[in-house]
Amino acid sequence: MPIVLKNVTKSYPDSAKPAVDSLDLEIPAGEIVVLVGPSGCGKTTTMRMINRLIEPTSGSITIDGEDVLSLNDVKLRRTIGYVIQQVGLFPHLTIAQNVALVPKMLKHPKDQITARVDEMLDLVGLEPNTYRGRFPRQLSGGQQQRVGVARALAADPPIMLMDEPFGAVDPITRSRLQDEFLSLQEDLGKTIVFVTHDFDEAIKMGDRIAILREGSAIAQYGTPEEILANPADDFVEGFIGRGATLKRLALERLSEIDLRPASEAGENPSTISIKATLSDVLDTMLSDGEDCLAVVRRGQPVGAISLDDLLSRVRELREESRSNADDAQETPA
Ligand code: ADP
Ligand code: MG
Repeated sequence: MPIVLKNVTKSYPDSAKPAVDSLDLEIPAGEIVVLVGPSGCGKTTTMRMINRLIEPTSGSITIDGEDVLSLNDVKLRRTIGYVIQQVGLFPHLTIAQNVALVPKMLKHPKDQITARVDEMLDLVGLEPNTYRGRFPRQLSGGQQQRVGVARALAADPPIMLMDEPFGAVDPITRSRLQDEFLSLQEDLGKTIVFVTHDFDEAIKMGDRIAILREGSAIAQYGTPEEILANPADDFVEGFIGRGATLKRLALERLSEIDLRPASEAGENPSTISIKATLSDVLDTMLSDGEDCLAVVRRGQPVGAISLDDLLSRVRELREESRSNADDAQETPA
């Protein structure tokens, strides 16, 4: 279901500037749109308005063409799942009871809820027999985040709002949760608004990224590739940080490029999966000390990639960014 924000402003009482100032944004159905920007730029305020926890001062927000202010509570809960960094599990309820909250509110039949809870725990990688009867404090931070995701998915809402959902866990757990969530989304195809202040998380998770500055002003809205190849201004460049080329290599998969014949990898080559990215290729070459890898699909060689191939791709990417920058300079102000 598409979400459309039109000229949305939110002013909190007693503050000089609006937290969100005239925001226009269209979130296409079935995609992950990431809102990324510095702390205090209005990301959480925007999410809370979509979820109707607060009302805009002016402007409109529609879901599938319907004004969110006109939806009743039941419809709203059926439509939107919400995941937040603080997880917000109820400490005195078991994991199963926490996951069952929304289906229960929606008065789903009891046996259906029990089955759904187990299905959701399974889906997020928590063995139902082990975890359904535990309390939140008996779980690690990463496991609690998984429960948060399971709870938001329990009523199978078409829309998920995720506000820094993996912010509170260590980098390794975060990376695993990101991977798991992306592979879930391949099957689920939900419309997702995902908030983060971490640009690397944004390029990993987003089909599209909105880079926000103060007052939720959009500095740039585009795919990760577009933003990395052609940053709109100095603010966006500053946000991307160093290593834009390396970040672009992390977005290109071996499955999308022309490979050498498998025979060119030589005898007993190091191997890499066809699903890997070009930055994985570089990592593997560096750690194995090899300048040519065999590319495999389900263990069978399907091609090869050399360090030269990688370097010529890097040169192409650099060239592209440079000509984008030149174009931008030639555009009259
Ligand atoms: P972000 O999620 O991007 O860090 P927020 O949406 O939480 O930003 O906050 C945007 C601005 O609105 C900040 O200046 C913040 O101090 C202010 N703000 C947020 N919530 C409230 C509130 N309930 N009352 C008054 N000001 C608020
Ligand atoms: Mg926030």
